[in-house]
Amino acid sequence: MKTFRYIDGAAVLRLDVEACIGCGICVTVCPHRIFELPNSRAEIVDYNACMECGACATNCPTEAIFVNSDDGCGCAALIIDRWISKVIGKPVSSCSC
Ligand code: SF4
Ligand code: SF4
Repeated sequence: MKTFRYIDGAAVLRLDVEACIGCGICVTVCPHRIFELPNSRAEIVDYNACMECGACATNCPTEAIFVNSDDGCGCAALIIDRWISKVIGKPVSSCSC
């Protein structure tokens, strides 16, 4: 996923480290490997790869994660379009946000 990235600085992802109980669910569900669990607490290791899908916040048992997946872009379409464009060699755009 390293080449399929969102827009730098655009995500609204927030992590409350004090509220984290180290369950590791966010590490498991994040499709972009944003989180690691170095000292039994979650840590954001690749902030700009977040595409605001909301899976981490939805599954975190202590609400330690906030991401604006309703009002944020959450634009998986942009990432997929870039991928398809690369494969077929011409621009594709299905993103309307
Ligand atoms: S899902 Fe929540 S509680 Fe579990 S490791 Fe991630 S931030 Fe911590
Ligand atoms: S919103 Fe999605 S991409 Fe961003 S950190 Fe959470 S699970 Fe990963």
